[in-house]
Amino acid sequence: FEVLAAADPDIADVLLREVDRLRAGLQLIASENLASPAVLAATGSALTNKYAEGYPGHRYYGGCEQVDRAEQLGIDRAKALFGAEHANLQPYSGATANLAVYTAFCEPGDVVLAMSLPHGGHLTHGSKANFSGQWFQPVSYGVRKDTELIDYDQVRDLALTHRPKMIIAGATAYPRLIDFVAFREIADEVDAVLVVDAAHFIGLVAGKVIPSPVPYADVVTFSTHKVLRGPRGGMILCKGEHAEAIDKAVSPAIQGGPLMHVVAAKAVALKEASTPAYQAYATQVVTNAAALTKGLEAEGMRPVSGGTDTHLALLDLQQKVTGAQAEQRCAQARIMVNKKAIPFDPSPPMVASGIRVGTSCVTTQGMVESDMAEIARLIGRAVRADDDTELQSIATDVERLVADRPAYPRS
Ligand code: PLP
Repeated sequence: FEVLAAADPDIADVLLREVDRLRAGLQLIASENLASPAVLAATGSALTNKYAEGYPGHRYYGGCEQVDRAEQLGIDRAKALFGAEHANLQPYSGATANLAVYTAFCEPGDVVLAMSLPHGGHLTHGSKANFSGQWFQPVSYGVRKDTELIDYDQVRDLALTHRPKMIIAGATAYPRLIDFVAFREIADEVDAVLVVDAAHFIGLVAGKVIPSPVPYADVVTFSTHKVLRGPRGGMILCKGEHAEAIDKAVSPAIQGGPLMHVVAAKAVALKEASTPAYQAYATQVVTNAAALTKGLEAEGMRPVSGGTDTHLALLDLQQKVTGAQAEQRCAQARIMVNKKAIPFDPSPPMVASGIRVGTSCVTTQGMVESDMAEIARLIGRAVRADDDTELQSIATDVERLVADRPAYPRS
């Protein structure tokens, strides 16, 4: 850090203040986590220099002996951890992993069946603002109004009507387990490729707290920086029969030189995620999410679908405040949550009627159920607060709560 501070005090200051921000507040954004010092070290390493287009043992450049070792270790660890036949660690992000999958299996104009954005799907599942909605023909399924659970009957009906080339299961704001068996049966019925976008929950699969999509899906894509707690990036697992198509789609079809420092950091994260300590972490993430959801319910928020089975919950603010207001008030109180549309939301997405919370970061910090109860009370106060003095007082309480378990504790 001293080297950076001497070379570029402005950027050094950004880094310092960002760590201060993390230490002084509560990070409850469900897609974020706090990567370990070992992951950060690999990410900030000299491997950033290396051009290594291709795959271990088959590169377009010389001098790849060491990066080959890193990537092969990562591939082997991913296959062992997830019981996968093939792994590709090179996608720059979860979105890019999805682009690779479209590239591998679809032609422009093909029909793809995926979860609708307003019901919790991701932009890469067919949004008109994204390549997936611009180059392909998206058909969207959603959740049932009465249960707020995925409507598997609708998925099947839409599949039979539209005969999609590819079906995507997985979401950005769905707090419940997904029935991979049901998706597999539907995909088989219409001869579609089944892709599970496990960006959010793959860390819980790694920690063995929720069922794995790997035995059922043709392909599993994910981000590596969410519950999995790796560096910012993406990854793809697939059946052996799709290995060549996936590898070619990632590179050379859509990416150039792989980020070998990030690939190495992914290998580090996979090693960490293979330990009993990580399994205990993943278990606590889910326990904490349930406790936080219960606490928020007591504060007058309605958990969409009645609760959570994962690391995240979606809370309906029941029109008392908007999602945007709640996000802004919480942020002022140093609690980071994000506004989110709830299913059948009457408000536009930038306003939204809900918030999404996740427990990956606070669990990394060592927090447990009793802390979740306290956090829920603080969020409840912040959402109701309509003056700066109250929000400042909550911020002080937040600082007190995190003081003995900060993000990145000073050693
Ligand atoms: N897929 C899902 C379901 C996601 O939730 C996200 C990100 O939040 C992505 C894909 C994209 O991942 P990334 O931000 O790594 O590109």
